[in-house]
Formats: sequence, C-alpha cells, structure tokens
Amino acid sequence: MKRPSVSWFVVVLIAVFAIVTTFAQGQPPAQPQRAGQAAAAGAPQARGTTQQQAAAPRLATREVADDVYQIALGLDSVCMYVLVGRDRALVVDTQTMTEFEGKKIVDYVRDITRKPLIVVNTHPHSDHTAANAQFDEVFLSAAGVEEIKAGGARRSSPMTYKLTPVKEGHVFDLGDRQIEVIDIPAHSSGSIALLDRKAGYLFTGDEIDPGQVVGMNPKTIQMHHANMKKLYEKYYSRITQLVPAHNGAPVTKRYIKYFMDLDAKIMAGTATVVPTADGPNYAFPVSENQVRYRENFAAVIYTKPAQK
Ligand SMILES: [Zn+2]
Repeated sequence: MKRPSVSWFVVVLIAVFAIVTTFAQGQPPAQPQRAGQAAAAGAPQARGTTQQQAAAPRLATREVADDVYQIALGLDSVCMYVLVGRDRALVVDTQTMTEFEGKKIVDYVRDITRKPLIVVNTHPHSDHTAANAQFDEVFLSAAGVEEIKAGGARRSSPMTYKLTPVKEGHVFDLGDRQIEVIDIPAHSSGSIALLDRKAGYLFTGDEIDPGQVVGMNPKTIQMHHANMKKLYEKYYSRITQLVPAHNGAPVTKRYIKYFMDLDAKIMAGTATVVPTADGPNYAFPVSENQVRYRENFAAVIYTKPAQK
C-alpha cells in the first residue's frame, strides 16, 4: 500500500528499539505504541520485573503453506512471498526495505532456495518494490512497468535491472507448479493477482487486505467491485486460500465475496461507516474527507468526492 504511515511506523519501531536497548536495564518494561494508537489515560502500569520486555519486530521468514514462505517485518508491514517449485522459485514483491540488520532482501530469499528465481511485483508501490534492483529481472503489469520507469526518471535513478510487462493469462512455470496472472487494477492501476494453479493460493497484493483496502474513491471502487466480481464468477472454484500482502495471511477466499458486497453497498450509498479504530491499522483514515466503510470482515478507506 502506498502510505506514508508504513515507513513512519518502521521509523517509530526502530526508535523504540534503540531506546529500549539503550536504557532498558533496570527500567520499567517499555511498551511500543502502535501507529496512531493513543495511550489510555490512567491505564494501570505494569509493575515488577516479571513482564517480558516488548521487542521490536524483526524481518523474519515463516512457511505459511507448503512451499510458500513469507518474509515480513511484523504483519501489517509488507509480507513478501517465495513460492518454491521443482525447477524454479517465484518471488512475490521485494519488501519495503532493501536490507535488515545488514542483510539484503535477496539473501533472505537465498536462505530459502538456491533455485533460479522469477521475481514479480503485485503492483508498483514502493513498499512492494524496494529491493527490485537486487534481482536481474522483475515482471509486473504494463501499467506497473510504466509507473516504476516514470518514478526512476523523476529521481534520475538508473534502472539497473530489467522490467518486463506481463498480461492477464500469462503463466509462470516453476516445473511442477504453474502461476497464472490475473489483472485486478483498483488500489493501484498496475495491480495483478497471482494464482497458484496447483495449490489454489491467490496472491492478491493490496487489492484484498484483511485490515483494509486503501485508495478507494468513486472511480476505483467501481474497478474494485468489477475485479471482485470477476474473481468470484470466473476463478472462485479454483481458489483455496487468499494470500494478501498486509495484515496477516493466508485468509479464507470468502473475503472476495465480503469485498464484492461491501463495494456494491458503497456504490449504492448504503455501506456502514465505522470508526477509525475499527481496523488493525489505526492510522487510517488519514484525512477529513476519508471514511472507513466495513461490512462483514471487509473494510476500505474511501475518499469522498469534493463538495461543490
Ligand atoms: Zn499498495
């Protein structure tokens, strides 16, 4: 997701970690605060030395499904994935940082597999593409390629790796495992989903997020609804689980229907507005003309059109 609060959240975590490691000896346990979460006035303070000191999250790898590895710093920052097949491995997104504790993202991937890599970005936002240059070639949608090239041109930063566009229906062959590209542009005009045809996992980037989908407005909500309808009508029986890029994964495929229904209600003007603190990321919404809509387990942050 393209959101300043992610990098801000990481900065806060690093600051808290530095303070804790420098001053913690003999001090009361430090309580890292989530972005936007206000400390409750008058809340009882932890006493004694039995409480574990809260540690800052570290970039860590977990095997979340058979031969599907997640590399993530906590759960609400970007979760990137490595799918290992017989002949090749597919990397989904390249993290929000280029390294952690001096170790490059490519080396986290190399700790999982030494097989040849195919690297794909679900969309061109910077928190999903930070370590792209550590790989020779990166695949993404044509709109995504244009956005990354335009960003590089603006910053006068040379492209040190090859960007290759892929279309809906393209299949990445890992040997015993085929991964299919499905266009789902809304949160980003360059979004694709990746369907693991063997296991039925659908990697959704930021277009399905159990926390909230951000970047919705009167135009993108229609695109998002059309995408959810397409996934529900054309692909649902082939999907077993969804694997989003933020706020924990895998989740059930029912989220496709939850978002389809929520989007329809937003377009009809009947969706339920819920408080900011309803979601796991309290930093959203971020401005006065934004609202958080929620139905079932689906939530979006929606920017209302300007009043005339
Ligand atoms: Zn995004």
